[in-house]
Amino acid sequence: MSNQETIFSKIIRKEIPADIVYEDDLALAFRDINAQAPVHILVISKKPIAKLSDATPDDQALLGHLLLTVKKVAEQAGLNNGYRLVVNTGDDGGQTVYHMHLHILGGRQMTWPPG
Ligand code: AMP
Repeated sequence: MSNQETIFSKIIRKEIPADIVYEDDLALAFRDINAQAPVHILVISKKPIAKLSDATPDDQALLGHLLLTVKKVAEQAGLNNGYRLVVNTGDDGGQTVYHMHLHILGGRQMTWPPG
């Protein structure tokens, strides 16, 4: 799937509201509208990569930035006892919004295996 307009593009452009908790030149983080844990924050790149499997070597620094953004946002959210990071990728991965995003889930004990 190519890099298409999604609801996350509208959130980046502030055309629809979101509970934004962090923003910089490359990344945006906001609370998931359908939280699956006491803390459920999505970290997205402003560049619309549809899914992780579409990333290229040119995205290396951006992907590293997103992971460090997760660390920063998790600390800011007070997740000192840990959290789960999820990147649903493609149809089998359960991805529903095709603008790559990292789910930070925390504030409760996570279990394994996931559903
Ligand atoms: P995924 O299923 O991994 O593609 O995750 C998409 C996530 O986006 C889901 O957890 C949705 O609840 C969340 N979501 C969809 N629309 C919005 C929105 N407008 N604001 C915040 N989160 C959203």
